[in-house]
Amino acid sequence: MKYYSTNKRVPFASLKRAVIKGLAGDKGLYMPENIGLLNDFVIGDMKDMTFQEIACTVAQALFGDDIDGGTLEKIVNDTLSFDTPVVPIHDNIYSLELFHGPTLAFKDVGARFMARLLGYFIDKEGAKDINVLVATSGDTGSAVANGFLGVDGINVYVLYPKGKVSPIQECQFTTLGQNITALEIDGTFDDCQALVKSAFMDPEMNGHSKFTSANSINIARFLPQSFYYFYAYAQLDKLGKTDKLVISVPSGNFGNLTAGLIANWMGLPVKRFIAANNRNDVFLDYLNTGIYTPRPSVATIANAMDVGDPSNFARIIDLFSIYPNPYKAIKKKIAGCTYTDEEIAKTMQYVYKQYGYILDPHGACGYQGLIDHKPAENETGLFLETAHPAKFKGTVDEILGIDLEIPVKLQAFMKGEKQSIELGKDFEGFKRYLLEQ
Ligand SMILES: *Cc1c(COP(=O)(O)O)cnc(C)c1O
Repeated sequence: MKYYSTNKRVPFASLKRAVIKGLAGDKGLYMPENIGLLNDFVIGDMKDMTFQEIACTVAQALFGDDIDGGTLEKIVNDTLSFDTPVVPIHDNIYSLELFHGPTLAFKDVGARFMARLLGYFIDKEGAKDINVLVATSGDTGSAVANGFLGVDGINVYVLYPKGKVSPIQECQFTTLGQNITALEIDGTFDDCQALVKSAFMDPEMNGHSKFTSANSINIARFLPQSFYYFYAYAQLDKLGKTDKLVISVPSGNFGNLTAGLIANWMGLPVKRFIAANNRNDVFLDYLNTGIYTPRPSVATIANAMDVGDPSNFARIIDLFSIYPNPYKAIKKKIAGCTYTDEEIAKTMQYVYKQYGYILDPHGACGYQGLIDHKPAENETGLFLETAHPAKFKGTVDEILGIDLEIPVKLQAFMKGEKQSIELGKDFEGFKRYLLEQ
């Protein structure tokens, strides 16, 4: 399958090239040319399949032209060594718990898949010396660093804003060593993201060696996220609960929601989506006005969603560009909502008290989005719980007045010693550092 750029000013790319480049040369995002379709029978059969089997079926439709079946199956099975269960909360509301991976966030799925796919390109197709740059406000860095740890031929640089990520998050990408380097940037997350984008656009750096992105602009990280939408559907299908499915997605860069739209495009019956935001709500503004105006991000307690210019917006526009009136079509498929820190806290308290379920601040936006766009009697509401509450222990403990137990997986990271390199937010200093490596 070929991949085109959403800006359509560069030639189509192979899967390998799209993954290794990350961002297209015209600054567009790569999109699959023909998204494979899965018919009702195939999707109906999924209720008797495992997560891995379902993901292999979806992966075959997406990557089957480029990678042989056996290799693809191995990549999928190695990626998905954990479950993403659907858990009933109350009435017709369900939580899709995406936090059972090694770093307890949904990003483990995409990061692990991407690491294994790049590993395959290095082993089997002679790609070499790939530098992965990743900007993080907390969760991406840990998922990517852990996904890529020890993969030969790949060096990972994690850029994070000094003093703006939680200690639990920080230790997950600063204590690993080996091929993982943490760069502590004296700036904001937006500054980190800007440094990464400038690096891809810099001719000298691209001449020197290969730099790619492990943020959700990379198709290898973003597309595999469609797997768990199918698996969630299959689990609801077993309960007879798939009629008129409404899915609420806590959103920052909108990679997760766009993967849901891709699943829907491939044939998964989803009636509508809800884009749940914290105060960084440029998408809701777009839905209300038809005009997209990026803004600087503001800090919230759901910090993995503190994004002022969501990179996957371009993919959403592209997906809907086949409609005569794309804006109208987007509004029909996706509703938006926005929550302040106080509202997020209230939701967490309410759900804990009423139903004994501990939401993390991101999942709380997803849950509240469902309630505010209340599924009708005969609809099923599913929200994505994107991180384990213990990843935000300080915040969750304070809001709920509890002392959350830290899962063993996280405790292990906290024993390691922090290693990081401090850099300013100017591009020249960053570039000099990378070219010296
Ligand atoms: C990354 C992240 C999000 C936002 O996901 P996008 O794909 O960037 O929209 C939401 N919640 C958590 C916990 C995250 O780590």
